[in-house]
Amino acid sequence: MKRNIPVQKGKRYTIAIERMGKNGEGIGKIDNFTIFVPFALPKETVEISIETVKKNYAIGKMKHILVKSVDRVKPHCPVYYQCGGCQLEHLSYEAQLRLKEEQVRSIIEHLAKLPYPVPVLPVIGSEEPWYYRNKMMFPFGRNGQDVVLGCYARGSHQIINTETCYIQKEGNNRILQAVRKMAETFSLSAYDEKKYCGFLRHVVGRVNDAENEMMLALVTAERAFPQAQAVVDFLRQELPELTSIVQNINSQRNNIIMGQENRLLWGKPYITEKMQKLSFEISANAFFQVNTKQAIKLYQVALDFAQPTERDIIIDAYCGTGTITSFLAQSAAKVYGIEINASAVENARENARLNGLSPEFIVGDTAEVLPKMFSKGIRPSIIVTDPPRSGSTRKVLEVFAAMQPEKIVYVSCDPASLARDLAILNELGYRTLRVQPVDLFSQTAHVESVALLSPGGKG
Ligand code: SAH
Repeated sequence: MKRNIPVQKGKRYTIAIERMGKNGEGIGKIDNFTIFVPFALPKETVEISIETVKKNYAIGKMKHILVKSVDRVKPHCPVYYQCGGCQLEHLSYEAQLRLKEEQVRSIIEHLAKLPYPVPVLPVIGSEEPWYYRNKMMFPFGRNGQDVVLGCYARGSHQIINTETCYIQKEGNNRILQAVRKMAETFSLSAYDEKKYCGFLRHVVGRVNDAENEMMLALVTAERAFPQAQAVVDFLRQELPELTSIVQNINSQRNNIIMGQENRLLWGKPYITEKMQKLSFEISANAFFQVNTKQAIKLYQVALDFAQPTERDIIIDAYCGTGTITSFLAQSAAKVYGIEINASAVENARENARLNGLSPEFIVGDTAEVLPKMFSKGIRPSIIVTDPPRSGSTRKVLEVFAAMQPEKIVYVSCDPASLARDLAILNELGYRTLRVQPVDLFSQTAHVESVALLSPGGKG
């Protein structure tokens, strides 16, 4: 049925914002037609000008705030409204937490549509909602003679020159400033994404939580780097706290940030991060949660839900560098980690060895590895899973259920794919007992959650 669209591009309207969307934008309705308004907050009434009109929704630009939310605050960052990195700096941290919790609750209720109520526990917030990111990946560019280094602007590949990024740890900000100075001193050219020429593509910084180990990786379009030694000397002089300088070579014509090849220019090829009793070596390309303190809380929730004992056989599907796997292996009979990325598994094996643990890692697609484990007769008592944003697949969830574990612990960075998978698991006989949201990404719209399931869902 064709419906009348009640708004027109370029015209102004007044709208009451009802809720927050998954990208942190305000959502309201005009004659029952959905309007997205970036930077508007729930309970605000705002004047907007319509910028985009689609079949089922429109996007409005906020012109004036007529009724202001009590939760609105002035953003810390001077480039917040241009930069695409953060989405919630205009909202107080307490309100960010409240809205994230409500969002998880509402998505589970409306998308998973489970035939029983699912308790969503109060979100676990952060004591350090600023300066928390242990990893920085900023594109490098030039504007005429000037170096530009910072995040991409919202919805574009224009680089926002950033002096200080308020969600990056201090060490990464120091890297940012030192690299800018270095690029000016050595006149390094910037890679041009359209013409496929130029040298420096991205700057990657990694610091551990104690900030006593610090890696700087320069992602370059070519391997040849005649100034490498002089650049290393310069950077070490500027940043005596560096423990590692790496060149990552990415000659691909795509927008994947890092290439496969790392060349160690100076120091160690990794930084070491401590999480409770465990240590993890993290190389330039490895996946590691960007907020170490909150990741520890997240893993602790997963452990509390799993309650592993010496009798348990556990599968950690989509295990990355084996962080959760190692936590579990401290108190289980046997833990298997499954991961598609071979170099992550190399890290995982080395990390387990360092920690004196012996989980077994299997490289491959969970969808292929898991059925083979099933046919070999492997029957875990607990399955922990932490898939990418898109979630798991029905095929994988079917094997989970067929293995008949006593518990499934599902860690997710996307409440929508989590809700979809909880619904599938319910059909397969697994009931969601509770969901715990954890804030790992303060000032941004992302939210992480952990769900606990046990046999007893309804078909
Ligand atoms: N639990 C880990 C990381 C999980 S991130 C931690 O907290 O550090 C999700 C991981 O799933 C990534 O490492 C990614 O490489 C892996 N992955 C993606 N698709 C996969 C698949 N089909 N099979 C196995 N692993 C996959």
